[in-house]
Amino acid sequence: MKGPFPTDKFRKIQTPFYFYNVELLEKTLQSAVAEAAKHNYLIHYAVKANVNPRVLSMVRESGLGADCVSGGEIQAVLNAGFPAEKIVFAGVGKADWEINLGLDNDIFCFNVESIPELEVINELAGRKGKVAPVALRINPEVDAHTHHHITTGIKENKFGINPEQLDKVLDTLERLASVKLIGLHFHIGSQLTDKGPFQTLCGKVDAFQQQLSDRNIRVEHINFGGGWGIDYHRPDEHPVPDFKEYFETFHLHFRARPGQKVHFEPGRSIVGQCGSLISKALYVKEGSYKKFVVLDAGFTELIRPALYDAYHKIENLSSDEPEETYDVVGPVCESSDCFGKQRNLNKTRRGDLIAIRSAGAYGEIMASQYNCRQLPKAYFSDTL
Ligand SMILES: *Cc1c(COP(=O)(O)O)cnc(C)c1O
Repeated sequence: MKGPFPTDKFRKIQTPFYFYNVELLEKTLQSAVAEAAKHNYLIHYAVKANVNPRVLSMVRESGLGADCVSGGEIQAVLNAGFPAEKIVFAGVGKADWEINLGLDNDIFCFNVESIPELEVINELAGRKGKVAPVALRINPEVDAHTHHHITTGIKENKFGINPEQLDKVLDTLERLASVKLIGLHFHIGSQLTDKGPFQTLCGKVDAFQQQLSDRNIRVEHINFGGGWGIDYHRPDEHPVPDFKEYFETFHLHFRARPGQKVHFEPGRSIVGQCGSLISKALYVKEGSYKKFVVLDAGFTELIRPALYDAYHKIENLSSDEPEETYDVVGPVCESSDCFGKQRNLNKTRRGDLIAIRSAGAYGEIMASQYNCRQLPKAYFSDTL
């Protein structure tokens, strides 16, 4: 089955471009909001997955907050109308200007990853006569069993504070007057399709809470990060991720302390399925033992296959002829510029429209101008 695409309209648009299914994004947002509400959970959309202004405004209208990892993202969500009290700021390398931007706008929380960062935030906040709300990002040492480039919660990763340093960090906090500890933050990785690692995380978070209680520290917020995966292989069978299962996992395995608020930061699961990269076949090239479809889109438009060996479903929207097997590649002068090897596509000819599915997250936003290529434009199902 091929995704529902207005192929006739696509023919009039210069390829490659991103196409967003607005109805699907709306449905996905509604599902996430409804399932989180059952448990009083709060959602901050992980902005780095997609900052397209239209996408941001839909996310904002659905009531979600924003999880930012740079000053640029903070600016982007402020421009999109997100209230500052719904903005969290994470990231292992926050520059002074980025911290100041957060302080000047009184964002909800800084997710802090090290003692030196805590000291810098304390100093910058002190200079402004402010007290910065902070959450400690703890590396819980839970293996997310996902691709090693998107695993973030194990010992060797650069992210977070290691558990054995937690006491030292709490000692440091006691002598810093311009930061206030309001929460604990975790994020173990991305594209998790198994809830097992989240169950393990729940147990670990409880132990960290106990460690805080032993020192008479109470935090108001627990943030479990993002990471819920999407079905890259069957986007039409699973267009909306199972948010019920996701949030229930935490409900069943984590007991919040009285009055505590629980937060999540999904990125991919919100925007992944609503976007596709639409391109054209430029050439069908017969190699000595295989055939190549050369597209007018490359890793400059969608880098995930080259960067993480990521799988994206590829469909020929122009052909119903019997399938043949191709390597689907881009025009960029790098061997890694390949969207899929030995893929079955309906027999493909020059000029056919090719859709690369599930490209709404970490797609458009990661586009580059390498080879002096132009950044791709985006189109929406309701305004085509
Ligand atoms: C990337 C990231 C997320 C979002 O991850 P997804 O897998 O897209 O849900 C959430 N929180 C933090 C801190 C991140 O770095």
